[in-house]
Amino acid sequence: MANGLQFGWELSGSGWATCLINDGHAERKDIVSYCTDALADLLHGVAGLYGPAPVQRFSFDLEPAEVRWVLRGRGADVDVTIYRFPDMSASFDAPDQDGTRVWSSTQPRGLLGHVVVEAALSVLKVHGEDGYRAKWVLHPFPVAALQDLRRLHLQHDGCDLRHGVAMP
Ligand SMILES: [Zn+2]
Repeated sequence: MANGLQFGWELSGSGWATCLINDGHAERKDIVSYCTDALADLLHGVAGLYGPAPVQRFSFDLEPAEVRWVLRGRGADVDVTIYRFPDMSASFDAPDQDGTRVWSSTQPRGLLGHVVVEAALSVLKVHGEDGYRAKWVLHPFPVAALQDLRRLHLQHDGCDLRHGVAMP
């Protein structure tokens, strides 16, 4: 699959992950806190694009800022928009338009699913489930969410890669 979209999720320290997305035009990088089950929320959100709900939302806690991802499925494509709010404790139920739009791009759903599965698999490969739990403390590695998204991606996007022969 051609790759005009880069996505990275790396545990950068105890309780923090670096989330990076780059569509070749603009890059967005956030340092995400372990206060939420952020990687699971991301995997569930992208997996939701394969279901009946065309809009998926999830937020990352940057302590104190909130970064909210809004995914809108449109046929074979997905509009990805990232909003930033200064204080997550105040904005968790605020409408999207109250935030600052910091990144947006339209991508094929198959490509988004592909890069997110790859990034999550690479986290598992680098740290293992035990290593992940040691760093993310409050939440285990989201094995079920990753398996779910991988299955949906392989089934619906016709990806030639098998993604993760090493999956548990
Ligand atoms: Zn793939």
